[in-house]
Amino acid sequence: METLKKLLTYLPQEDMALIEKAYFYASCAHSYQVRASGDPYLTHLESVSANLAELKIDGATITAALLHDILEDTLVTEQDLLNEFGEEVLSLVQGVTKLNKYQFDDNITAQAENWRKMLLAVVKDIRVIIIKLADRLHNMRTLKYLSPDKQKSIASESLTLYAPFAHRLGIYKWKSELEDLAFETLQPVEYNKIKTQWEKRAESNIENLKEVEEQLKEKLAPSAIPLRISARPKNLYGIYKKMERQNKPFSAIEDLFGMRVITDTIEHCYAILSVLNSSFKLVEGSFTDYINVPKANMYQSLHMTVISDKNVMVETQIRTEEMHQRAEYGVAAHWRYKRKVESCAGNAPKEDTKDAPAEDRLDWLKQFLEWQRETTDSSEFLNSLKTECNFEQIFVFTPQKKVIKLPLGATTLDFAYAVHSDIGDTFMGAKVNGKMATIDTKLKTGDVCEILVRKNIRPRQDWLKFAITAQARSKIRKYLREHPEKTDNR
Ligand code: MN
Repeated sequence: METLKKLLTYLPQEDMALIEKAYFYASCAHSYQVRASGDPYLTHLESVSANLAELKIDGATITAALLHDILEDTLVTEQDLLNEFGEEVLSLVQGVTKLNKYQFDDNITAQAENWRKMLLAVVKDIRVIIIKLADRLHNMRTLKYLSPDKQKSIASESLTLYAPFAHRLGIYKWKSELEDLAFETLQPVEYNKIKTQWEKRAESNIENLKEVEEQLKEKLAPSAIPLRISARPKNLYGIYKKMERQNKPFSAIEDLFGMRVITDTIEHCYAILSVLNSSFKLVEGSFTDYINVPKANMYQSLHMTVISDKNVMVETQIRTEEMHQRAEYGVAAHWRYKRKVESCAGNAPKEDTKDAPAEDRLDWLKQFLEWQRETTDSSEFLNSLKTECNFEQIFVFTPQKKVIKLPLGATTLDFAYAVHSDIGDTFMGAKVNGKMATIDTKLKTGDVCEILVRKNIRPRQDWLKFAITAQARSKIRKYLREHPEKTDNR
């Protein structure tokens, strides 16, 4: 409890009483249980809570984390929890317990069903899934004590289900760790190969980074801008995927090390950018301004690749502390704002605009479930979810300069449906940046897309080949289902 207490100093004192009570309650209830590692069960509960403390999450969630396995593994009942800890904690524990019932299954139908349950749980209370992610993270860290079969199935579920979810919620830190742990279990040969190569490269790279850091600090010193620099290795699984995607050997992967320059205000971000610009060579085309145009998950930073005096390329990100917090922990970074709004829901208007990013995420999920409500095809459901979970978003403009966010790989047809379903349904053609484009033309950030429509056109079966977004696909399917006679001959 003492270790945990130290991690929870951010919580108000009044929360601690309930947390301590839960701690001792759980330690009694689970006292006969040990982990596969031989450790007392309490170590698991402590670790899960410690993971959650990283996110500076609220007291009720920490309390629930300490009790998250209690209904499943002990004689404690829901009524007991209600009496001892109240409704909020009970409902969180119930949520996690429900999720646990949907065990991993190689069967794709069952897998899709798991996703669906999980999404429904999130829509109700996102804290349930965050507890589940923290639970999975600790289970992955202690995976080696289980049988090889079990290791494999848990690892593959983590890779296909939990890591993308952490990614979509923006809890980047957990996503990377889940991926690397799963990678190590599922492909130990590839994992170790990359790890060894990476470690070899790390030594020389750290020196290079130090040098760039020194140079940068020197140049920035006169401006008195407060900043700290943190170097970050890419996750090994990410490197592996990149090698696969670009069909390159490890030696050809350049940007293994990143540098983050973290400062206090947006003005200072741009001030640092201009210093970087004048004191380093920048790789052409490497600059992206995610501060002005944030990613769909509200990620913000300035990105660029600088070339040091010794000709080393360093991927660099400039951001504020707040942006950094959000980049590492995503939705959880906004947790407290969210609670504030919830507690006054119904009797007061929303006042806290800072709540928007967390709300956006829930909207996305609600919307996705809405689109998928009628999907009975499990692989369709999973594929759409993977597309929608895709971190990379593009920003395309309408001729009226309205920004439409789409997942990477989206076509003109997806764009049409994103603008309006009537426009999608009567899609005849498109102009991208003033030039005629086809129904399968893939869009990229900055494109201006104009959709040409004709009243008598109707969606066709083969459109499903060109649409990748859940929104477009569900609208097309809906039309086809409602008009079976028109979906034949073309
Ligand atoms: Mn657990």
